[in-house]
Amino acid sequence: KKYKEGMEKTRTSFSSKINNLLARYRSVDEDFFEELEDILISADVGVTTVMDLIDELKMEVKRQNIKETDKMKEVISEKLVEIYYGEDSDQIESMNIQNDELTIILVVGVNGVGKTTSIGKMAYQFKQEGKRVVLAAGDTFRAGAIEQLEEWGKRAEVDVIKQSAGSDPAAVIFDGIKAAKSRKADVLICDTAGRLQNKVNLMNELSKVNRVIEREVPGAPHEVLLVLDATTGQNALSQAKTFSEATNVSGIVLTKLDGTAKGGIVLAIRHELNIPVKYVGLGEQVGDLQEFDAHAFVYGLFA
Ligand code: GDP
Repeated sequence: KKYKEGMEKTRTSFSSKINNLLARYRSVDEDFFEELEDILISADVGVTTVMDLIDELKMEVKRQNIKETDKMKEVISEKLVEIYYGEDSDQIESMNIQNDELTIILVVGVNGVGKTTSIGKMAYQFKQEGKRVVLAAGDTFRAGAIEQLEEWGKRAEVDVIKQSAGSDPAAVIFDGIKAAKSRKADVLICDTAGRLQNKVNLMNELSKVNRVIEREVPGAPHEVLLVLDATTGQNALSQAKTFSEATNVSGIVLTKLDGTAKGGIVLAIRHELNIPVKYVGLGEQVGDLQEFDAHAFVYGLFA
């Protein structure tokens, strides 16, 4: 699915509110900005991000001496993209894929957010690109997680390395690395358990897994992707905070954007946490994962 289709709910809601606003206000005044603020907050852009955005918009309006609202759609789109990237960002926006050596992607996130599904979709995409992919079933904790990953492995036609339920995730990932090396794989995607109830446990488990990966493949993991569910709104933000304290999150996979009218959460995550969104999930099918593109996303809102 492309943004236009996958973000139907956000787009219909957002663009109808914006069009309605622009139809009612001819001149750009304080009331206009206040209503715009409400629209953005209702789309889950997040209070901090909205405030920064409104400030930027007011400055731009002054700078360009804009009096009437007919030019505002363009200005709002531009500023939404700008607010997404922020200033002085040293983040790598697209996936950090190694060319001639093994790329290791570690995937973290709480249960139910769409972690397994996203791993399956990624595996399928890499496979479509002609890459050799191995999956490591490191979520040995959640019942059925290993079997579910195997299902996705079959669908994407990639190998899944596993041990029995309850075994040590770091040991599974160690096996995964060995298998990936001997099969000359291009990409190894490692699943992990999503226990958040106990932050110390989570930190210990992730740092053990990280140590194994770092030891076996210097420079890896190349990506630590945190999977968040867009339909949980501001809750997703707080999960992102917790996980970035536990490990070095390099990117976000934001799932279920198709299931919410509040897609503005993408902007809040990037702006407030300075973590780039690398993929968005736009449905339940294997092809419903897109590399995130802030331009396409924002312009999709108005399309
Ligand atoms: P996990 O516990 O984090 O591994 O979550 P799962 O991968 O099992 O996904 C939980 C549910 O969310 C499943 O029913 C998936 O089909 C669904 N899901 C995952 N990603 C998306 C998405 O992008 N859009 C929609 N609509 N559903 C999704």
